[in-house]
Amino acid sequence: MTSTAVPLPVPRVPRSRRAEANVRLQDIPVDGHKRVLLAAPRGYCAGVDRAVVAVEKALERFGAPVYVRKQIVHNIHVVTELEAKGAIFVDEVDEVPAGAHVVFSAHGVSPAVVDAASDRGLNAIDATCPLVTKVHREAVRFARDDYEILLIGHEGHEEVEGTAGEAPEHVTIVNSPAEADTVEVRDPSKVVWLSQTTLSVDETMQTVERLRARFPELHDPPSDDICYATQNRQVAIKKVAKDADLVIVVGSANSSNSVRLVEVALEYGAAAAYRVDYADEIRQEWLDGVETVGVTSGASVPEVLVHEVLAALADAGYGDVDEVRTAEEDLMFSLPKELRQDASGQRDARGLGGRSR
Ligand code: SF4
Repeated sequence: MTSTAVPLPVPRVPRSRRAEANVRLQDIPVDGHKRVLLAAPRGYCAGVDRAVVAVEKALERFGAPVYVRKQIVHNIHVVTELEAKGAIFVDEVDEVPAGAHVVFSAHGVSPAVVDAASDRGLNAIDATCPLVTKVHREAVRFARDDYEILLIGHEGHEEVEGTAGEAPEHVTIVNSPAEADTVEVRDPSKVVWLSQTTLSVDETMQTVERLRARFPELHDPPSDDICYATQNRQVAIKKVAKDADLVIVVGSANSSNSVRLVEVALEYGAAAAYRVDYADEIRQEWLDGVETVGVTSGASVPEVLVHEVLAALADAGYGDVDEVRTAEEDLMFSLPKELRQDASGQRDARGLGGRSR
């Protein structure tokens, strides 16, 4: 069967648009001192870095094309760059030619997808973030102990589909605090909650409180499911938002953690907050009367896109940039096991890492 790449339902922004746009923001005076507060940590997390490097290594090792099921990470720029290097993004493994290499994205896959890839004779490379795999393992364990799992997360998100697919008979998805008031369970004494890794910490805790009000014996996960990167980026933007007239979050529309950063910024005092994929999406009117612009980026965003935003803001008179750092990050994950040896059988240097803290 011939393979066809299926366009994914995300906005496509050709590289040429950015080069040709050449629209500069105007430096319009405001009453106070114009400045940027740049949140840190921001941008790439350990799981995204590993997944992107995995595709690059697979292309080096096996040659183009390498197939990737779903977007490797939820960022249009990253996907476009990898496509240019020879990656083909598909929706499902049945679009991949038998015997080809396919990379599973950082968001993880259900066992049914692993089985489908195996049935087709594909060479699968699993770039699921280890922190997502941790939640999968929790789901398997609680299902084995016959718990009903209330999975807090967004229905339809790939990560939620993958985690729920580990134990479909045991998982009920809870999309919001409001759904906590209506969800039904068969045995309130044997219920546990787990969550998607990229949610708002505050909203998830509200959902849990409302669940616990109805099910007092609700079990907690053994450790945080919302990952360190999501939490750190939210803490940093909370600190920036209280002093910002405007917050700009760099990240794609289908990036859960980026969208959450906009919500958190608004909740914590930013007068306005917008998400952009690229600097040329910043509108002049957003800057009307703005003294302080907060800037951050989601966990799947390369730093070059933040630099482009800072350059655009500098054109508009916001050249004074202060970084507001609330945590240090030095976590690294080793490459997927399928890529840990190079062609000569040597361990790949990137594969020797493992957790560094
Ligand atoms: S956001 Fe968190 S769970 Fe997702 S890839 Fe990054 S570290 Fe892993």
